[in-house]
Amino acid sequence: MDAIRVDGLTKEFGTVTAVDDLSFGVESGEIFGLLGPNGAGKSTLINMLVTLLDATSGTAYVNGHDINDETGAVRDSLGIVFQEPAVDEELTGAENLAFHARMYGKGRAERERRIPDVLDLVDLAEEADDPVESYSGGMQRRLEIGRGLMHEPEVLFLDEPTTGLDARTRRDTWEYIQRLNEQSNVTIVITTHYMDEADFLCERVAIMDHGEIVAVDTPEALKDSLGGDVVTLGLENAGRELFARLDEQPWVREYTETDDGVAVTMAHGDRRVADLVRLADEAGAAIASVDLRKPSLENVFLSLTGSTFTEREADDADRQADDAGNRAAEAAEVAE
Ligand code: ADP
Ligand code: MG
Repeated sequence: MDAIRVDGLTKEFGTVTAVDDLSFGVESGEIFGLLGPNGAGKSTLINMLVTLLDATSGTAYVNGHDINDETGAVRDSLGIVFQEPAVDEELTGAENLAFHARMYGKGRAERERRIPDVLDLVDLAEEADDPVESYSGGMQRRLEIGRGLMHEPEVLFLDEPTTGLDARTRRDTWEYIQRLNEQSNVTIVITTHYMDEADFLCERVAIMDHGEIVAVDTPEALKDSLGGDVVTLGLENAGRELFARLDEQPWVREYTETDDGVAVTMAHGDRRVADLVRLADEAGAAIASVDLRKPSLENVFLSLTGSTFTEREADDADRQADDAGNRAAEAAEVAE
């Protein structure tokens, strides 16, 4: 059985469609990633799945329970770790877990059985009685995850689990999440705007943009779908003539204009760099930089949407500023 089945799920906030008619499934036992730039709709989607937010239309089934009308059963079968810290720093690790278990209506016997198990699971047994304020960032994240696991959920949701952690701690947290998935077989749904995180951690990744899923597959299949290597040319002038020439080359699989140049996909990029430089030269394009690499999930996003994550986030920020400006102008008109 699918751990999660999403069926035409939609969320509108006024004129913004944050989640747009999504349908997809998450298999039991997998680590499934929702990857997208800030504002893509990841948190909104998760908040509907955990029943903290009502859907505008459509529905989803979590462990077979309908999020629209079996709220209690859905909540009992899942755990969630939010983007913002939710543990109390003045309490010890064990006290935090006990507090959470009481909130879930667990009796004393069950709490006393479960807390040591969870502390073991998140590698915090030795620090159980230390106040959380003495924990490192990584330890606090593990305690949050432990909190989400207290009532033995079948699915664990993690919203941007490594935002704000240093590189080393992020890496440890990924390995820890993988181990947890292997040991307890809990299905894990994780949102992230880090390509490397989705690539390293997830068995399958859904790429989100503007409330839609533009692709869903294993990271390998997504990268392979680009059909080769990516050579990025930084250009000092407009590349119109170069683009016309790229169109004529049978070995150019695809190219996308970037902010300051062009990203070209081809097989055997290492052997084609010289050809590409010659084409640019013939087209009168001044090259500022050349970069050859295996495709990343960033290239996949660029190929599917025509934007990089950073461009997408900047566009959205501009649009929001415009909207705010328009609203201010309208308000001013009304006031006159
Ligand atoms: P992500 O988690 O991928 O960064 P979100 O789900 O937080 O994206 O946001 C998706 C879109 O919905 C954004 O345009 C955001 O501004 C908008 N949005 C999210 N929550 C609300 C809300 N409570 N009210 C109005 N708009 C919202
Ligand atoms: Mg979010």
